Amino acid sequence: TYEKLEIVEGRDELAEIGRTFNTMMEALETNYKKQEQFVSNASHELKTPLTVIESYAKLLLRRGFSNEKVAQEALDAIVSESSRMNDMIVQMLELAKNKEHLSLTVENINLTKLLENTLEEMRQAYNRTFSLQCDEGLFIQSDEQKLKQLLFIILDNARKYSDENIDVQVVKENDSVKVDIQDYGVGIPQDQLPHLFDRFFRVHQDRSRKTGGTGLGLAIAKDLAEILQIQIEVESELNVGTCFTLQIPLTFLNGEDNR
Ligand code: ADP
Repeated sequence: TYEKLEIVEGRDELAEIGRTFNTMMEALETNYKKQEQFVSNASHELKTPLTVIESYAKLLLRRGFSNEKVAQEALDAIVSESSRMNDMIVQMLELAKNKEHLSLTVENINLTKLLENTLEEMRQAYNRTFSLQCDEGLFIQSDEQKLKQLLFIILDNARKYSDENIDVQVVKENDSVKVDIQDYGVGIPQDQLPHLFDRFFRVHQDRSRKTGGTGLGLAIAKDLAEILQIQIEVESELNVGTCFTLQIPLTFLNGEDNR
C-alpha cells in the first residue's frame, strides 16, 4: 500500500509536485488492485465453458468414433464454447480496464431463441431440467454476447444452488421484458441479500467451493447488467428457493454502439 508523501505547506511548487505525485501513485495503486481482481475474475469465468468443452470432448472420445452425429454435435459445441471463451477473455480484459470505455455491439436479438439455445446448452452440459415459458419471436435490442454471459451466470448459479427443475418465465411489459429465473434450492437469508453482488461474497461456502465458485460471478453480472441497462432483483427464501428477475429494456437507450 502506498503511503502518501507528506506535503509541506507554504512552499507552493514543491507542495504542488507532492500532490501530483500522490495522485499518480494512488491511481497506480487502484489500477494494480484492478489487475489483481481481474486475475481472480478470469479464472472463475473461464471454468464454466471449459467444463462444457471437457464433457463434449469426453463424449467425443466415448462415442464420437462410432457415431458421426454425436461427433458433429460434440465438435460444434466445442467450437462454439471455445469461441465463447475467447470472446469472454476479450470482454473481461475490457471490463477490467475501464467500464466506461467498453464497446457494445447493440443489435436486434431474438430473445426467445437466445434463451432456448442457452437453456439447451445448460441441459446438455449438466443433465438438468430447465423449462422455459416465453412467447415466440420476442425481439429486444442488446449486446447478445454480453447478455448471454449475464444469463449464463444467473442460470449457472440456479443450477449450482438447487437440485430441482429450474423455471424460466418471460413476460413482455410496456417498454421492457421481465425474465424470471426461479430455482427451488438452498435459498439465501434475507440479511445476506444486500451483499450478494459484492466481489467474493459467498453465502454457501461449501457448495460454492464444490461447484468451483469464487464469489465473483454475481459481481461480473452486476457490471454486465449496468452496461446493458438491465435491472436485477432477487427474492429468496432459505430452503425454499431463489428468483432472479431481469428487467431488460426493449430498446437500448443510447441506440447504436456509442460508448
Ligand atoms: P459463486 O462463484 O460462489 O457461485 P456468485 O458471485 O455467483 O459466486 O454468487 C455469490 C453467492 O451467492 C454464492 O456463493 C451463493 O452463496 C449465493 N447464490 C448465488 N446464486 C444463488 C442461488 N440461485 N441460490 C442460492 N444462493 C445463491
